[in-house]
Amino acid sequence: MNTSISSKLLKNGSYINGQWQTSSAEKIDIINPATNQLICEVHDANADDTLKAVDAAAKAMPRWKSKTAKERAGILQRWFDLIMSHQDELAAILTAEQGKPLAEAKGEIAYGASYIQWFAEEARRIYGDVIPHANSNSRVIVIKQPIGVVAAITPWNFPNAMITRKAAPAIAAGCTFIVKAAAETPLSALAIAELAHQAGIPAGVFNVVIGSDAPSIGKVLTQDPRVAKFSFTGSTPVGKTLLAQCATTVKKASMELGGNAPFIVFDDADIDEAIKGLLISKYRNAGQTCVCANRILIQNGIYDEFSKRLVDAVAQFRMGDGSKDGIDIGPLITAKATQKVKDLVDDALAQGATSLHGDTNNPIDGQFYTPTILTNVTPSMAIASNEIFGPVAPLIKFDTEQEAIDIANDTNSGLASYMYTRDIGRVWRVSEALEYGMVGINEGIVSNEAAPFGGIKESGIGREGSKYGIEDYVEIKYLCMGGIDK
Ligand code: NAP
Repeated sequence: MNTSISSKLLKNGSYINGQWQTSSAEKIDIINPATNQLICEVHDANADDTLKAVDAAAKAMPRWKSKTAKERAGILQRWFDLIMSHQDELAAILTAEQGKPLAEAKGEIAYGASYIQWFAEEARRIYGDVIPHANSNSRVIVIKQPIGVVAAITPWNFPNAMITRKAAPAIAAGCTFIVKAAAETPLSALAIAELAHQAGIPAGVFNVVIGSDAPSIGKVLTQDPRVAKFSFTGSTPVGKTLLAQCATTVKKASMELGGNAPFIVFDDADIDEAIKGLLISKYRNAGQTCVCANRILIQNGIYDEFSKRLVDAVAQFRMGDGSKDGIDIGPLITAKATQKVKDLVDDALAQGATSLHGDTNNPIDGQFYTPTILTNVTPSMAIASNEIFGPVAPLIKFDTEQEAIDIANDTNSGLASYMYTRDIGRVWRVSEALEYGMVGINEGIVSNEAAPFGGIKESGIGREGSKYGIEDYVEIKYLCMGGIDK
């Protein structure tokens, strides 16, 4: 390996049936997006390797599901403890392959681990029901059982947490699990596989497949009849393809797809709080999160003051290699991603937007994109209807509450939304009117393990986290019991 990272958690092949797979002749280069240097090579797994992972997960299923919930909870708790005791090491790996600043990477490790701890606890609360029957001679009993082998595909923007959010509830419920992690960021996935191994998760219960031929691997995971449930986090177009593939075996599917979050600031908002919330919602992970503010709607009365204060705040950001001290904004994941952001900004400028901040003449420096603020943006511009996935804040002016709601809902996405106001009646009116799975009210961060994360419309199906999150990984079985009357 050619790397400046030294860690026993750095692995270079898929983890299948409790073993590291390092025999493939093909390799994937893992590149640090901040330096463009090779971190290491990872053996490239293919569809046949993926079939082996399905075999292993199917074989491990009977033993794993027959463990008591208390036993499963204990093993998950050990995994949580090991991840947290390796937080710094895991964060260094994450920053090297993904680019986000080290403090954010440490935050992701803790956030990802929080789902393991939460579902370790939830494992013991998968309750059934006893329901009165219409006849005195019978009873209705409902039990919940693990759905079976779960397969998942996850993206590069949260290389740790997008996996734990799915693996933890699956394993807690008594399912076995296979994930194909993003080819850009496999090292975080493999590092937590090593810790799963150390925690005593049995062979075949947690498998990680790393391969560059995502469509072929995806076909195995979505079409093999032994996989009972498929869970995807990624872009909406790929999600639609995978959902269609799942139909071939009528698999239960969860989809966590793209967003186009409105961030609405009303005249009566606390402007300092709104700016604080916007900075974190918009610029975290250099704007590469599915819940990033994508359209910033500011009411007329405060538009000028808000814009000025936002420019002052964004001017303080320091951009650079996330492994260095004091960096707020890291690189974007690839040169292609950076070009996409530039194209959206260029289009908005050509359509009449103006730049309040950011070097829009030549903003690309390698994969770094200067934090940018655009004013005079209109809802019809491409930048308002596409997921930007970069550190660009397009400001849109509105007059009335109804106008803000109409603009916010004018999209096929429905993941996160945000509003800042001190008016309690408006909080209810707007929350109920927003067609989104999540509403941040005077809050720029909505996601945590206790809350149901997920979207409506084309942003997805299902919820991750919270007491609702386990439901995706269990089947309801109804037992009709008769012969009770004497
Ligand atoms: P992407 O292109 O859809 O890729 C996501 C994953 O799907 C990767 O592992 C990728 O593999 C794989 N993939 C791509 N094409 C495939 C195919 N034809 N068959 C099977 N697998 C395939 O998305 P991305 O650009 O990496 O991630 C960003 C997107 O994810 C954004 O839209 C973002 O909003 C969304 N996201 C949503 C949530 C949520 O919770 N709703 C959270 C995070 C991100 P390779 O890496 O090998 O290509």
